[in-house]
This record gives sequence, structure tokens and C-alpha cells, in this order.
Amino acid sequence: MTTQTPMIDCHVHLSGLEGIPRLEGLRTHVGLDRMNLVCTMGRNHVNANPAAFVAKAERPDRFYVFAGLDHTAFFSANGRRSSANGRRSSAGEVAAPSLAEQVDRLRALGADGIKMIENKPTARKLLDVPVDSDYFADYFARVEETGFPVLWHVNDPEEFWIPELTPSWARERGWGYDETFVAKEQLYAEVENVLARHPKLKLLFAHFYFLSADLPRAARLFDRFENVHLDLAPGVELLYNLSQDVEATREFFTKYADRIVFGTDTASGNSPQEAQIRAGLVTRWLETDDEYLVPDEADFLLGPPEDGLMRGLSLPADVLARIYRGNFERLAGSRPILLDRSLAAEECDRIAAEIDALAGRRLEDNHARAAALRLRG
Ligand SMILES: [Zn+2]
Repeated sequence: MTTQTPMIDCHVHLSGLEGIPRLEGLRTHVGLDRMNLVCTMGRNHVNANPAAFVAKAERPDRFYVFAGLDHTAFFSANGRRSSANGRRSSAGEVAAPSLAEQVDRLRALGADGIKMIENKPTARKLLDVPVDSDYFADYFARVEETGFPVLWHVNDPEEFWIPELTPSWARERGWGYDETFVAKEQLYAEVENVLARHPKLKLLFAHFYFLSADLPRAARLFDRFENVHLDLAPGVELLYNLSQDVEATREFFTKYADRIVFGTDTASGNSPQEAQIRAGLVTRWLETDDEYLVPDEADFLLGPPEDGLMRGLSLPADVLARIYRGNFERLAGSRPILLDRSLAAEECDRIAAEIDALAGRRLEDNHARAAALRLRG
């Protein structure tokens, strides 16, 4: 890498406490100054927040945390089977704080923002609630009012809805979508209804909001909503799409240099070489005018080299500085917020109790309880 700007990776996944030293190793190996840990939500494990809180507590200068939401109240009320006699049992129903209260709790304990994956088609199928419905109304009002930033995964590449075009690595993950999944344009419409109601939301859409094949549409989005930003985390298709017309892309990146944020989607399970390849694909593309392919040694989510060609943008240093660091700091702060260890431990206790309740018994292997112990230790 040629740049001298200390880089912040806005889009990194940590799994489990054992991932913390691995991720710290990847951070130093790649030469990143800081990472933003984005926490996905789930059903039985609630969300990935607990380990991320520990990472932040132990390396407060290195890790931002964008926390996932807790939808346990929804899942426990809606997900159970009817009992044999046809009546729904109320056993096991969990009362989690409302989503708006969760915003207050996360801010109080020192999270830096929120990660939403609720509008990835698989997640939208699991939590089958439109994002512009009442379920989310108070939540978005609170997020807007507090200025808490959100990194939001909406949609997926177009090809995932077209069986002949869905890459095999995506299909293997269950990311090939038939008519039982919400359609791409509907997902955009639901999200943009939210944006129209709450134009001050500070948003960072993951993977270029999957608009990399349509820069005019991305430009209209930026022009209409001045607090919207896009991250560059592969979704390797974004690098291929944006390499089609390098001149147009360079012009777009220069015009909207304040709205584009560096990210890699590195995961703590990646090897150092894989993490280096992920970051290098993006930095080489931003900084040089090289033409190149994904290396053979890349992790499998980047697909095989024959999928496409990347052509570098060779952006000027001032644009790079904003993409690598300035824009993220403007959104999330020039330093990670200091974690309140005791509030974070209480939050982990709460999540641990939910995990046990969902399982119907005290689980030995409860990631939130392990995190709470470590935060108090
Ligand atoms: Zn991701």
C-alpha cells in the first residue's frame, strides 16, 4: 500500500472470544489502524455483541463496535410451534427491551453505532417484518434523534435472484433467492420509505448498497439523502462493476469523496494471507491504475479469479484520506467510545438469560455468559 493515511476498516466480523486475538493479529498483519466490529443479529444466539464488547474493553483504542439488535421478543412470540391441541403455548416467551430502548442501552454502555442486517434477503425471511412497519417505527425515530450511526446491509447482488447467474460460492451459503424471498426492489422501497421519514439518519450502507452496476442511481440516492454513505466492503462484484468504466467511477468517487468509506468484510476466521488479500484488493484498486484478478489464495467468498477483472482508479491522496479514515471518523467519532464494562457485562447477562430461555435450559456453551465473565474478570 502506498498511502500514508492510517486506515480504519469500517466492516469487520468477529466471531467469539477466541476470535479477538486472531483479529488483532490480522489488524497488525494488514497494517490497519483500527477496525469497526459489525455485529450481526441472529435467532438462537441473539446477536454477536458480547464478544465485540470484550474486544473493545481489552483494546479500546483499536475497536469500534456497531452492535446488532435483539429481536428475541419477536422470535419468541412468533417462532414457536402451536401445541398439539392447537393452542399456542406462552411458555418461553421472552420480554426483551423495545428496539428504541435498545438504542439507549447501547449508547449508554459505549457502543459506537448499530449494525443492521435485517434487510439481507435471508435475514428478512427469518425476521419477516418490513423495515418501514410499526415494529421499527420508534426505533428509527430514536436512532435519528440521537444521531447514532447505522451500518446497514440491504439486499444482495442482483445475480443472487437469477439462478443461472448465481455464483456457486453464494449458492452454497443459501444465497440463491427464489420467489419465497422478498424481491430486490421491494427491499429498496421499504428502506427508502424509512429514509424519507427520517432523512437525518446517519447511514452507511454495506457493500455499496448493491448499486455498483448503476452509478446514476447511486448518485440520485446521495443527492436525495445527504446523510447516506456507502462502504466498499467486497461483495467482490462491486469491484468488477465499478471497473467497467474507470473514468466514470473516478469521477463519481471524486464528486462523492465524502460519502464513501473503506471496508473489507474481513472475518476473524480469515487467515492473515486472506485478510491481506481482501484489504489489498480494495487498496490496490483505489490507489493504483493496475489491472488485476483475485489471487488464487483468496477466501472462497471472493470467488474464483476468472469471475472478473479489476481496474484501478488511482485516486488522489486527499480523496483516499477521506475514504480510508475521515468519513468514518465524521460518522462514528475520531476515537472509539470508551466501553462501560459494568453496563456491558449486565447487557451480556441479559442476552445470556435470553439464550437459555430460547433453548429451554441453561446452556453450558453460552457465548454471552462467557463474555460477561471476561468483562468482570
Ligand atoms: Zn459483512
